[in-house]
Amino acid sequence: MRWTQTLIPTMKEVPADAEVPSHQLMLRAGLVRQLMAGAYSYLPLGYRALRKAEAIVREEMERAGALEVHLPALQPIDLFEKTGRKDAFGNVLINFEVRRGDRNVHLALGPTHEEVITDLISKLVTTYRQLPFTLFQIQTKFRNEERPRFGVLRTSEFLMKDAYSFSTDVEQLDAAYNAMYAAYCRIYARCGLEYLPVEAESGPIGGDASHEFMVPAGNGEDQIVRCSGCSYAANMERADTGRQSVDISAGADGATLTKVPTPGVTTIDQVCDLLHCDPQQMIKTLIYVADGKPIAVLVRGDHEANEGKVRRALNATSLELADEVSILEVTGAPVGFAGPVGIRCPLLADHDVAHIRDAITGANAADSHYTGVNVRRDYDLDATHDLRNASDGDPCPRCEGTLEIVHGIEVGHVFKLGTKYSTSLGADYVDENEKRHPIIMGCYGIGVNRIIASICETRYDENGIVWPLSIAPYEVEIIPLNIADEDVMSVATRFYEELQAAGVDVLMDDRKARPGFKFKDADLIGIPLRMVVGGKGLKAGQVEIKWRWQDNADKVPVDSGAAEILNRLATQRETMAASIPD
Ligand SMILES: [Zn+2]
Repeated sequence: MRWTQTLIPTMKEVPADAEVPSHQLMLRAGLVRQLMAGAYSYLPLGYRALRKAEAIVREEMERAGALEVHLPALQPIDLFEKTGRKDAFGNVLINFEVRRGDRNVHLALGPTHEEVITDLISKLVTTYRQLPFTLFQIQTKFRNEERPRFGVLRTSEFLMKDAYSFSTDVEQLDAAYNAMYAAYCRIYARCGLEYLPVEAESGPIGGDASHEFMVPAGNGEDQIVRCSGCSYAANMERADTGRQSVDISAGADGATLTKVPTPGVTTIDQVCDLLHCDPQQMIKTLIYVADGKPIAVLVRGDHEANEGKVRRALNATSLELADEVSILEVTGAPVGFAGPVGIRCPLLADHDVAHIRDAITGANAADSHYTGVNVRRDYDLDATHDLRNASDGDPCPRCEGTLEIVHGIEVGHVFKLGTKYSTSLGADYVDENEKRHPIIMGCYGIGVNRIIASICETRYDENGIVWPLSIAPYEVEIIPLNIADEDVMSVATRFYEELQAAGVDVLMDDRKARPGFKFKDADLIGIPLRMVVGGKGLKAGQVEIKWRWQDNADKVPVDSGAAEILNRLATQRETMAASIPD
């Protein structure tokens, strides 16, 4: 492609409303333009990169044995009512009524396709002989984002690869899940992304076992907990810590238990200000209602309770924060003055709570707190539990190493769904004994736009994007320095045609512009391999070749220019291939 014949609107300035590198770079390099909040148009350069990512995803899905389908984005709302997801999605589900003849039809724009595909399969599959199989599609999804932000990282409309496996038993489900997991590792490696599979909760989609695929990135919205010593990694909701239950029998003498007036002081920060203490000195007491019964959950003042862990420790199906009335019932005080001493409900404490000597907590009386609170003497615990979010330096649950918290961008997820959708939508099969069972499902998603955004978020320098060869909109950019120089243009054009004939994606910057201007744009759009053809070089019989990530160009003889380019591309492809897992 000749630059003068394409549309690459590069920008010098950093757009004011673009906060993160990927957003800034995708706008500046002319990959995308915003239509409205949460909706972006892909321009030719951006769309070429997106299509390359899509092609890799498709190849790996097919390699893993999945079959491609294409389902309607427009879906009847009653499917979402049958699975309960109309309420679960709430405002995120874009739905509306349209007029058809004399009636209104209520429709939704698909946020994912579990409903549509399960409904389809319920009509197509009858017997175990038809199973297992995995279907996938690459299609636009819609979610009404309350806060679309970070450019294309969080949008209301995005390209997603979603796959669904259909199995008769857990062994088949595990095989499908493992095949998808392996395919995902290959996809991200081929896209040149540093990725991390992390253990995850299944979230509102239902089911139990799941992994998220994260790209560690400073601006990532998700928090990843990972071990420095082993391969343990989990998202914040899921991550265990290796802390152990504390020996509470030892007890502590400590300071005298003292009730101090704290009028109107209800938050940890306010108490610390008033009593000149650190949050680590405080016991945070949260009143929950678990399966209808109140429970006081204790964590250290500087820690965050993790509701998933609390629910698992209690083996509870439902867990919610207590309302003001329930809090008054068990503490005898308004919200903000709860504490373990004399509270009228069972206690569930995090490991770290029992380590606090002379703690400060609410006194279960309005406008008062206790100081000098010590476990065993002032309140009793049977055991302590892992109830809080992991933090930097916590011990690993699997090895002797320590945990660290890093930010990441979620680029994919794999879920063992189970029978939630097949049960609610009647997708059954009969086994060899003519017995009927719901089909066991898995679902597997990849945000294709996020692959592009994650590359721009993690592979750049002060001058622009540094594309991996596999995803780059073009592989080679040829820069003739002076287009008025006939020799320069004829050599540049010859390379351009030779490389194109060899199947290389080539961009030639044939604009009438100063060399410095072209170099700046070349760095910004980040095409991996650059060839510069200049009048002076030609007189010395040379052209310059340079990788985007290389500091200085190599001078090579004009005659071997094209061979040199092809050679370098082949070597780079081999290097990338070596990093792809089986
Ligand atoms: Zn470890």
